[in-house]
Amino acid sequence: MRIPFIAGNWKMYKTVQEAVVFVKELRGLVKDVADVEIVVAPTFISVYAVAEAARNTNVGVAAQDLYWEREGAFTGEVSAAMIKDAGAEYVIVGHSERRRLFGETDATVNRKVMTAIAASLTPIVCIGETLEERERNETLAVLDRQIKEGLDTLAADQVTELVVAYEPVWAIGTGRHATAAQAGEAHAHIRTRLRQWFGGEAADRCHVIYGGSVNPDNIRGLIAEPDVDGALIGGASLNVESFADIVSKSRPTAAV
Ligand code: PEP
Repeated sequence: MRIPFIAGNWKMYKTVQEAVVFVKELRGLVKDVADVEIVVAPTFISVYAVAEAARNTNVGVAAQDLYWEREGAFTGEVSAAMIKDAGAEYVIVGHSERRRLFGETDATVNRKVMTAIAASLTPIVCIGETLEERERNETLAVLDRQIKEGLDTLAADQVTELVVAYEPVWAIGTGRHATAAQAGEAHAHIRTRLRQWFGGEAADRCHVIYGGSVNPDNIRGLIAEPDVDGALIGGASLNVESFADIVSKSRPTAAV
């Protein structure tokens, strides 16, 4: 049974102090929520402080990226072991901004996913098509390639623990979210491929979440789709009331 998974990607927003204040407020707002997995992803320099503020609560912490080496002369990079040591349990891998702006490929995604799993971090692996790819009717082929090459080396039991975030690039930060039908189609396809390539248990247990202009007004329609297990939220996760509202509307028991 997959409980909804709601994660806020704060990108390059919030100082350490702002991040801690947010989590202290969030703790109170979601303290009674036992039926949603709640995660926030601050910048690297806030991970430790945010994890301390979230300790022994139902709020988990993710880093936004990692490097695959354990340690060494890699200026600017942060290893999986360091992220884990700072108190995070999750890590975002392959966000479209990292693919577009920082040269991330399916091959680097694969290395990072393997590294995260080896360090007992849960990867939140982002996949999704650009507008041009959608207009050329290539959406499902792009998803196939990203799943195949990004997750190729994983064993079925590793896929079980994974979070896959379907984030159509044209919907990120644009205010233009996928319709429930578009998200539903992509998610069903991803689930089918996971079933074919990693088996029934992996497909049934892996969370497949949607990202792209999610807000308190559209979350219910999206999460009502059977294969949409939650959301990765950028802009609307920066405000604590809005993020807590999305969490509350994602609860299986939430009134429609
Ligand atoms: C994201 O950054 O992963 C994202 C989905 O952003 P937004 O919600 O702002 O579209």
